[in-house]
Amino acid sequence: MTDPLGDRELATEAFELVAQAVKPYLDTLSDALVHDTRAETLLAELDGTLPDAGDGTLAAVDRLVRVGTGTATRSSGPRFFHFVVGGATPAAQAGDWLATLLDQNSGLWLSSPLATHVETVALRWLKDLFGLPEGHGGVLTPSATFANLTALACARWWWADRHGVDVTADGLTGLPRMPVLSSGYVHASSRKALQVLGLGRDAVETFARDDTGAADLAAMERRLAELDAPAVLIANAGEVNAGDFDPIDRMADLAESYRAWLHVDGAFGLFAATSPRTAPLVRGVERADSVIADGHKWLNVPYESGFAFVRDPRILGRAFGGWNAPYLPEPDEVRVNYNNLGPESSRRARALPIWATLRAYGRQGHRAMVERHLDLAHHLGELVEDSPGFELLAPVRLCVVCFRYRPAGLSDVDTDLLNQRLGDAIVADGRVFVGTTRYRGVTALRPAIVNWLTTEADIDLLFAVTKELGERLAAQLPAFHKGS
Ligand SMILES: *Cc1c(COP(=O)(O)O)cnc(C)c1O
Repeated sequence: MTDPLGDRELATEAFELVAQAVKPYLDTLSDALVHDTRAETLLAELDGTLPDAGDGTLAAVDRLVRVGTGTATRSSGPRFFHFVVGGATPAAQAGDWLATLLDQNSGLWLSSPLATHVETVALRWLKDLFGLPEGHGGVLTPSATFANLTALACARWWWADRHGVDVTADGLTGLPRMPVLSSGYVHASSRKALQVLGLGRDAVETFARDDTGAADLAAMERRLAELDAPAVLIANAGEVNAGDFDPIDRMADLAESYRAWLHVDGAFGLFAATSPRTAPLVRGVERADSVIADGHKWLNVPYESGFAFVRDPRILGRAFGGWNAPYLPEPDEVRVNYNNLGPESSRRARALPIWATLRAYGRQGHRAMVERHLDLAHHLGELVEDSPGFELLAPVRLCVVCFRYRPAGLSDVDTDLLNQRLGDAIVADGRVFVGTTRYRGVTALRPAIVNWLTTEADIDLLFAVTKELGERLAAQLPAFHKGS
């Protein structure tokens, strides 16, 4: 068994092996353990040396399906609350399969008018969903990290241009350090983007008025006045520990007064715009020079999916049209070459699942999902507040609930230790999945609720498991002192 050509008749059967796994797998999403550490022994079946003669299509795919469905973390299900992880709606998942079947290269119009056209439509629909101006340029990216990279590369192009330098052609040599100002909410991926762009992750100066990281706008303004030079502001829509927002509208005022570039990282928080209940949190986002979000979080599209929007659409082409023929798309351009507008060259047709989910559920469906999650987050917040021994650490603003278990009479040190062990115990238990963070100097749990399948029963289970394991660990507290 060597040349895949000999197996061409088996393509349908190979797909069917996957298709047959769909129902049994999806059926387990809502009630099987989210992660079963005992299943990890199965992983050995994927190990071994590179086969000389291969197993053939069906044997290889069968093994992968069996081990995959047996060991996968059910992070696309309703009980995974760690990080900010969405699932995949039925339409999005089918759209993604179609992207695999069609195997388009969506880098160039020439290689796939289909993928290019669908990307243009999906980007337009997303702008509409979030209330962003139609004239914004945009591009799909693999993630919010790549989207931050894309947007900050545009900011860098603009900034260098104001110094009279074409950074695309000439690089950073001779330029001063690019000033980047943000609140304490700035996400690690913005720093990573700056690091990759040669600007340095420590270029970010943060202005926080307290230990939550909330923006100190007066200090930010003083710094802008003192700099008296082009600068970049990063506003954070949805901080990962407690879901708080920087005041985008007021940062847009600052950007206007000091002629700075305003970038908004709205990886999940941009979805606040889909409901009138939370839209005020992102007021002013339409004034930003660049805005990004993730598809694989609150849009519930499979990995990998993100998007970046830029007010001046020509800048995307200037920052990324690196093919000795800088491509300057017009706003009404149809034959777009998206590989000139972002960091990738060849790229998958990741617009298909986005198109499918937006077409299937529309503005109302996405609003309903977001509002269900808002309700669930408030429900969890109430459970925490109404339960002695639990402490809500931040108001519930969106989809993240930041709290800890704090039985009466425990010292700060023991409380931290207890919550750390509680996070580990919840993951090991497997019924739900949630991890810890450090918030205002203490160890906290911070479930994020963004999965399309999550209902009140899942939230009640999350709280019940947390309480049960917390009480058990608290009873063992003297014992783990000896062990630590
Ligand atoms: C998740 C997240 C990112 C990074 O997103 P990836 O999709 O993991 O690259 C960036 N910013 C914020 C605020 C996030 O929550």
